[in-house]
Amino acid sequence: MIRPPQIVNTLVETVSEKLGREAIFRKINNREGYFILDLAFSYFQKADRNKRNDYRSGYLYIANGDKQRLLFALAHTPVMSSFFKKNFDYERFRAIVEDTAKYRDENILRFSRKGVREEIRTPDLGVFLAKLDSIETSGFSKSVFSKSKIGKTGVGNIFGLCIASGCDDEGLVEAVRESWDLFLWLYPTRPVFKRNASLNKNMQRIQSRCEILRVRALPKFILETPCAGQVEGAHILPHKYGGSDKLQNGVWLCNTHHRLTEGRLAGSRGVDWFEVEYTG
Ligand SMILES: [Zn+2]
Repeated sequence: MIRPPQIVNTLVETVSEKLGREAIFRKINNREGYFILDLAFSYFQKADRNKRNDYRSGYLYIANGDKQRLLFALAHTPVMSSFFKKNFDYERFRAIVEDTAKYRDENILRFSRKGVREEIRTPDLGVFLAKLDSIETSGFSKSVFSKSKIGKTGVGNIFGLCIASGCDDEGLVEAVRESWDLFLWLYPTRPVFKRNASLNKNMQRIQSRCEILRVRALPKFILETPCAGQVEGAHILPHKYGGSDKLQNGVWLCNTHHRLTEGRLAGSRGVDWFEVEYTG
C-alpha cells in the first residue's frame, strides 16, 4: 500500500477540481516522487506500440529531504509529446514561467535535444528566460520535442520544467492553477479551454466545479443528465452575441452541461451571487 504525503493528495484534489473528474497519482519506483495525472493519459498512450508502462506525463511532485519540488514533466512518452508539441504556444509557455516564478527559488528546465539531454538551471529568472528565448530562435517546440535520434521509441526523451520549489504547500497548489495550460496541452484535441482562456482566467476566483444545479428553470432532461467531461468556463451570453469574458458573464460547467445549455442562458453572476436561468 502506497501512502503518499498529504500534499500529494492535495495536489490530486487540485488537478481533479480543474479537470472536473478524478485525477490519480502514480509513485515513481525507488524515489520519493509522484506523478499526478489523468487516467485518460494511459488510454492515449495505448496508441504507442512500444507498450512501455514507465512513461509518465503530468505534474511531478518530488520530495528531497526538507525541500519539495513540483515539476511539469513528460518522460519517455512519444505519443503525449506529440500532442503537447501540437498545442504548445511559446508566448503562453513563457508567461507561465514568469507567472509561477514567485513559487520557486530556482529555475530548471530539463529536455532532450537531438537525443542529448540538456539542463538549464539558474536562480535568476532573467537569465532563464533569455536562455529559453535563445532556444525559441530556432523554434522552441521543434528543438525540444524533436524526433529522437535514439529511434522511434522516444525512450530517453524527457521534458521537465520546475514550476515550484522551496515554497509551502499552498504555493504548490497555486502553481498548479497558474500553469494549468501546460496540462491541457497533453490532450490530443485542442482544449475547449483555449477558446475560453480569457473567461476561464477571469473566473479563477470561483471554484471550478460544474454549477449547473444553480441555474434556474432547468428542464427535466438536463437535471437528469449527469456531469461529464472537463469543467470549463461557459459564457452566459455567448461571445458571438457580444457577451463579455468577464466573471459576471461566466458559469463553470462540465463539458456536457455546457453543450446542453449553450446560447440558452440569461442573467449574470458575481463571486457570491448567482442569477442565471435557462431560457430554452
Ligand atoms: Zn455538469
